Amino acid sequence: MTLRIERLCKTYSNGVKALDNVSLEIPIGMYGLLGPNGAGKSTLMRTIATLQEADSGSIKLGELDVLLEKQEVRRLLGYLPQEFGVYPRTSARDMLDHIAILKGITNSRERREIVDAMLERVNLFQHRKKAISGFSGGMKQRFGIAQALIGNPKLLIVDEPTAGLDPGERNRFYNLLSEVGENVVVILSTHIVQDVKELCTNMAIINLGQVVYAGPPVKAEEELQGMVWQKSISRQELEDHRKNYQVISTKLVAGRPLIHVLSKTSPGAGFSQVEPDLEDVFFSRVNQAV
Ligand code: ADP
Repeated sequence: MTLRIERLCKTYSNGVKALDNVSLEIPIGMYGLLGPNGAGKSTLMRTIATLQEADSGSIKLGELDVLLEKQEVRRLLGYLPQEFGVYPRTSARDMLDHIAILKGITNSRERREIVDAMLERVNLFQHRKKAISGFSGGMKQRFGIAQALIGNPKLLIVDEPTAGLDPGERNRFYNLLSEVGENVVVILSTHIVQDVKELCTNMAIINLGQVVYAGPPVKAEEELQGMVWQKSISRQELEDHRKNYQVISTKLVAGRPLIHVLSKTSPGAGFSQVEPDLEDVFFSRVNQAV
């Protein structure tokens, strides 16, 4: 099953063009959708998840027309939004049971088995009778994953999943996702390059509503081969370097700025060539330097 997005457009009533002719082909596996804040990721995710309308274009999941056959798509869909807003006082088990009904699991004994197995899987079984509103941040996140995975979705959409998770929780979440990604289309929307690097075989970078790269992360890195140079400079030199070179990123290493510069030939004294990584790809694409 492949998800095909063709020429999708969306302009909000305030005139912001959030999706500008987006076309993507997303196969089974983990697909990263990378973009800075405001790029249009949530708009795209919510449209695929049948939660909002596009102005034009099409989305197909296999043979299903996502924009028209919304009910059918919802049965195949798992969606983990950035935030749930209000958490119910309902217990985790009752809430999952309710979601399982919506997913079309009508037999109550079968449903109880599925719900309890899912609670075990995300390590919430011992808390099954507690109200979700009283859960800690990590527990809410795990409940979010459980509700997204119940009913074996064919399409799983995960929006900015690792914000607010500690490193251990993040690792467990990564493992769970890559396990699911073996036979499901998983779209992981994030502004964290590391998430995509560790998990995804394919990705797209979007900026200002447009696709600026689509393909494997490694291919994007290869395209920058021999073109990324780094130099450790003083804070005072930063502004001059920004003017004189195509600076793609600046980060502090032990309090000193380390800049990455894009250049086909050596930019000069003090620069050394480095292996391009996904961050170089991201910043050079998003700043439209390439
Ligand atoms: P991302 O998820 O990548 O941060 P969004 O899809 O949330 O991006 O937003 C894309 C653009 O659309 C931004 O400029 C944002 O301000 C704007 N936007 C998002 N939702 C709305 C809305 N409901 N009304 C008006 N503008 C919106």
